[in-house]
Amino acid sequence: MQNHLRLLTPGPTAIPDRVRLAMAMPMIHHRKPEFKAVMEESRAYLKQLFGTQQEVLPLASSGTGAMTAAVTNLFARGEKILAAQAGKFGERWINIAKTQGLEVVELAKPWGQAVYAAEIEEMLRKDPDIKGVCIQICETSTGVMHPICEIAKVTQKYGVLLVADGISSVGISPAPMDEWGIDALLTGSQKGLMVPAGLSLIALSEKAWKKAETVEPSCFYFNLKAERKNVLKNQTNFSSPVSLIIGLREALSMIFENGGLESLYQKHYALAQMTRAGIKAMGLEPFAKTDYAWGLTSVAMPEGVSGSELVSLAAKKTGVVIAAGQDPMKDAMIRLAHMGHVDFGDMLAGLYAVASSLPHKPAAFSDAYLSIAMQAYENAGAYPKNAL
Ligand SMILES: *Cc1c(COP(=O)(O)O)cnc(C)c1O
Repeated sequence: MQNHLRLLTPGPTAIPDRVRLAMAMPMIHHRKPEFKAVMEESRAYLKQLFGTQQEVLPLASSGTGAMTAAVTNLFARGEKILAAQAGKFGERWINIAKTQGLEVVELAKPWGQAVYAAEIEEMLRKDPDIKGVCIQICETSTGVMHPICEIAKVTQKYGVLLVADGISSVGISPAPMDEWGIDALLTGSQKGLMVPAGLSLIALSEKAWKKAETVEPSCFYFNLKAERKNVLKNQTNFSSPVSLIIGLREALSMIFENGGLESLYQKHYALAQMTRAGIKAMGLEPFAKTDYAWGLTSVAMPEGVSGSELVSLAAKKTGVVIAAGQDPMKDAMIRLAHMGHVDFGDMLAGLYAVASSLPHKPAAFSDAYLSIAMQAYENAGAYPKNAL
């Protein structure tokens, strides 16, 4: 059968028609008034999205570029940072920091567990030389959400910078930067923001800008001070990724025309409840037992079931594209994303794709998982404001 393709991967995500059409417009020049108008509108939306009075800077790079920019602009060679090591993207902070010549203290947790504020506090208390904490909001490789609101209280108490990778959480679950006290928040275009990959966004707090004044960036391309100067003139430092920024403006218009952030977070929260309930009802176990993210559901594979085989069978049979695990968890996990341009209908398809691709139906299996999932969606209740 020819099913249509449903992309339920934790990046890239489906692109709404409005965004695709906006990006198909003829090219405009990035130093001329037409583009400046696009930037001006996008800047206002982005401040709301990030929950900040500061400028949100667009960079022509994938999300990892903004992670690199954060590290190279905020910390000088030889300085010490603490990084959460609880999945593939936590490891990325460590690799970027080491490449920059930083000393890295690792706070390691097993894959599937969150890093807690008290654990960070203990390390900051023991080591007053630590200048910053680099962590994910959602660790996409495990489906875990770290409690950033609580962690921010600790980093503020100890006067160190909190650098948060929000690539799979901005536009999905709340992390109001100024209110919570996050010093650097960053994301990429291809997850919650419903735009193709290639654009990243980063904002710094006042405290972070002060620190950046003391650091000579080691990298010519990612110069956040120069980017800020340009953004204030509705420009970017180098050639702008014009089509992606036009797409972003359109995606943000859609978000703010349709109930804004409240309804966006409510949808993702309800989809997370729905997907977890459906997975459990078909006899499978979520991989993140607690502290789960709102943008994806990680599912542990039963003995003898290969995650990557299940994923390719599901794509063939149903057209639903989901992700296997990453690195050591490649076959032991699958990941069903519910971020961006998706609704309950897509998740019903996603759950069906998983159930119908299982080689052996678990004992508890019955078709009731679909109605159980819908009940969980309807009964999700209001999303928790501190995002856990
Ligand atoms: C996807 C993702 C990244 C990597 O982003 P790229 O755009 O591939 O560079 C980093 N961190 C998190 C949490 C992610 O989900």
